[in-house]
Amino acid sequence: MEAMPLVDRYAPSPTADLHLGNLRTALAGWLLTRAAGGRWLMRVEDLDEARVRAASGAEARNLADLERLGLHWDGDVVRQSERLDLYRDAVASLPTYECFCTRREIAEAASAPHDGYRAYPGTCRSLTAAEREERRATRPPAIRVDSGGATFAVDDVHAGRVAGLVDDFVLVRGDGAFAYNLAVVVDDVEMGVDHITRGDDLLSSAPRQAWLTQQLGGSPATYAHIGLVVNEEGQRLAKRDGAVTLADLPHLSPGDVLAQLSDSLGLGPARTTEEALAAMPGDQRFFSGAVWREGGLAQP
Ligand code: GLU
Repeated sequence: MEAMPLVDRYAPSPTADLHLGNLRTALAGWLLTRAAGGRWLMRVEDLDEARVRAASGAEARNLADLERLGLHWDGDVVRQSERLDLYRDAVASLPTYECFCTRREIAEAASAPHDGYRAYPGTCRSLTAAEREERRATRPPAIRVDSGGATFAVDDVHAGRVAGLVDDFVLVRGDGAFAYNLAVVVDDVEMGVDHITRGDDLLSSAPRQAWLTQQLGGSPATYAHIGLVVNEEGQRLAKRDGAVTLADLPHLSPGDVLAQLSDSLGLGPARTTEEALAAMPGDQRFFSGAVWREGGLAQP
């Protein structure tokens, strides 16, 4: 039987304009997908209402920038804000408990942060009904999944097999918003995603998300976590690094930008996405990071 072509997705958060690091990851995902004859889906992760509102128009600019570079996607744009019922149903199907901890309490009780993430030590798991009642009067609870102290391993084409502890992570925030780790998994399962290309800052989230995928009846995807673009101090590229979005770089044509992105992926200065695709070696399965140096992308 022929292997099914893979389904990957790009999932921008419309809380800022895309910078060259985001666009580079998008190009990497597009290339890995197209090289495999797969489908490349587009999902706008717009659940953080306040931040989306503060970055007015970012979604339209994100999508226009991708199109301008020739990073065309398959099917309609999926928006998380239009899928709240799916997230609600998923939460209802999982073992959960209410959590009243403040960030500070978690910071004090948790082990050292891992990639900025602190594993939740389970403080609220065994509250009595009376204790929960009392705490509800002081603050609205977050909803956590009861993971039962699971560990889970994922396969990443770059990093290999990566195992991680699955803590009781948040599914619904105290303000009622569905959490990233929930929505991303519900959507990947529902959209039939089986290959996930994204920045390697999310590698440590993958075991947790793959575990949840399985709890929701899906099959964990294969991952391709792509090295980030960092500045010369080794910090991930951001606004502070100067002209890093297409809007900041009006003197560069889409071809000029693609040439930089493609070159930094080790494919030479291809000026169109099709040219970059043609430059992909047959065994190209992953991409490492890049450095932003003197206003240009360089290989590390
Ligand atoms: N929306 C996330 C971001 O912009 C990406 C999430 C994902 O690809 O899983 O960082």
